[in-house]
Amino acid sequence: MHMDKLAIVVPCYNEEEVLKIASEALRGVLKDLVEKGKIAADSFILFVNDGSKDRTWELIEEEHAAHPASVYGVKLAGNVGHQFALTAGLITAKDMCDVTVSIDADLQDDVDVIEEMIDKFHGGCDIVYGVRKARKTDTFFKRVTAQGFYKLMGAMGVKTVYNHADFRLMSQRAVEEFSKYKETNLFLRGMMPLIGYQTDSVYYDRKERVAGESKYPLKKMLALAFNGISSFSVKPISLILGVGLFILFVSALALVYALISYFTGHVVQGWTSLILSIWFLGGLQLLAIGLVGQYIGKIYIEVKGRPRYNIEKVLTDHGVEEERG
Ligand code: UDP
Ligand code: MG
Repeated sequence: MHMDKLAIVVPCYNEEEVLKIASEALRGVLKDLVEKGKIAADSFILFVNDGSKDRTWELIEEEHAAHPASVYGVKLAGNVGHQFALTAGLITAKDMCDVTVSIDADLQDDVDVIEEMIDKFHGGCDIVYGVRKARKTDTFFKRVTAQGFYKLMGAMGVKTVYNHADFRLMSQRAVEEFSKYKETNLFLRGMMPLIGYQTDSVYYDRKERVAGESKYPLKKMLALAFNGISSFSVKPISLILGVGLFILFVSALALVYALISYFTGHVVQGWTSLILSIWFLGGLQLLAIGLVGQYIGKIYIEVKGRPRYNIEKVLTDHGVEEERG
């Protein structure tokens, strides 16, 4: 019987404090799942060193030497950030396995739900999102900013899974499809829902970091949010167009008001034409910028060259053909 080979992909940036702990915990998960007959015996962990400045890579090498069959490593030449590091890991892993699970090195995500993810994968899901139940361990600040983040994304028309970070199972064919998205402005959480296929979620409590500090300070979080919006949505441009139209409408009202004031004779010389020009030209300019923006938005979407569709199955008189990759 064919057993599915699992790759657990772990991006690591300056994680010397947690690396060994993570490796041990994840090897435990693999062992358990192999014993239960849920994954192949040659399943492995793939640590991606994202240009760490500390001893992270040396530790990955040590782990690999101690457990050559179950711990693999990828060393990126420099720091490219979490999203790219994860992408590098997933794309490297996809040719070596049947299914991937991505997880952070700090073990904030509950490794025990990986089994549930695998069960859902066997049940036919290609993507399984790890979704955190509550945000008890977060500071008030992080909780409020994070919730604002999801709300803002939603309002801007970016589809994301609420309270899901990058703890996620992806089948080999889902990663294959993902690899066709060539864009450089990566926002993985927004991209996964575009892939399609059957998906599901598992729920868990997010813990505190095992050790070390967050590599995601507010500045990086804001950058991620802005990147998410500007990579997925041309809505801000449409907003400009909308405001332009609105101001033109206001200028019509201003026309009425200015004329009434003019004829009732309460105005300084020249005020009427001046105020009308201000409103009308302001509105016209915004409208024009918004219009130009619409074209730029279209160019932007074209330039990304995303796949236009993803065929899952074809039904012909030769039978059903699964489209793989
Ligand atoms: N990370 C990375 N490159 C970076 C920053 C972070 O690969 O430039 C990794 C980091 O090692 C961790 C994951 O991304 O495995 C999430 O980072 P962190 O736990 O610091 O973020 P938080 O959980 O605080 O949002
Ligand atoms: Mg973390």
